[in-house]
Amino acid sequence: MNDNIHGYIESLLQPRTGLLAEMEQYAAEHRVPIMEPVGMDTLLAVMKLQKPERLLEIGTAIGYSALRMAEAVPGLHITTLERDEERFNKATQYISQSGEQNRIRILLGDALELAEQAAEDGPFDAIFIDAAKGQYRRFFELYEPMLKPGGVIYSDNVLFKGYAAGTDAPSKRLEKMAQKIMDYNQWLMTHPGYDTSIIPAGDGIAISTKRSEEK
Ligand code: SAH
Ligand code: MG
Repeated sequence: MNDNIHGYIESLLQPRTGLLAEMEQYAAEHRVPIMEPVGMDTLLAVMKLQKPERLLEIGTAIGYSALRMAEAVPGLHITTLERDEERFNKATQYISQSGEQNRIRILLGDALELAEQAAEDGPFDAIFIDAAKGQYRRFFELYEPMLKPGGVIYSDNVLFKGYAAGTDAPSKRLEKMAQKIMDYNQWLMTHPGYDTSIIPAGDGIAISTKRSEEK
């Protein structure tokens, strides 16, 4: 989104306090890529409309988005996957500090190897993909069978700082990542089992609703 517009919306948001503010500060200091305020706010607005009861998150980091979702959506239970042990430990600590440990279950490991364990908590009303950018399609294909018909898959970072929309990436590595995201978007938008829209908020959020019957 246009930086001015984005900055304006961000300036209107209430700053977070307490534990959430502490987590934002930790993330900034340790360069943990948690969702930025406008993207987070937009995602929560849509989830409040959807009212999922069970959600699978791929990419916990320190538990920031999980906690925000749990706070925003009453009755929501979250299963969230993280492969980095240090972040997993930090997330476990923050979630227990928040008192939401009964609503948020964190599993340590590579999401591509946790399907069996995650399935114990399914089927899901929603899946939030926010992990390794090059693997989005694999995450989607592995976990979408656990999504109920009418359920929603949210994918974060699908505009990748604008690089996915043609802004020149400053390095070959970022250019390659942008290409992978563009391939995912193309694949996702033409998936016969899902209706997808992309919202240009935050780093770009794709919202894919599972059709009850394939066309
Ligand atoms: N959703 C979080 C941010 C997640 S950052 C928030 O907004 O608060 C992405 C996280 O995904 C990182 O912590 C990274 O370690 C994790 N990750 C990347 N690939 C993964 C994989 N294959 N399996 C599990 N976790 C993965
Ligand atoms: Mg993200």
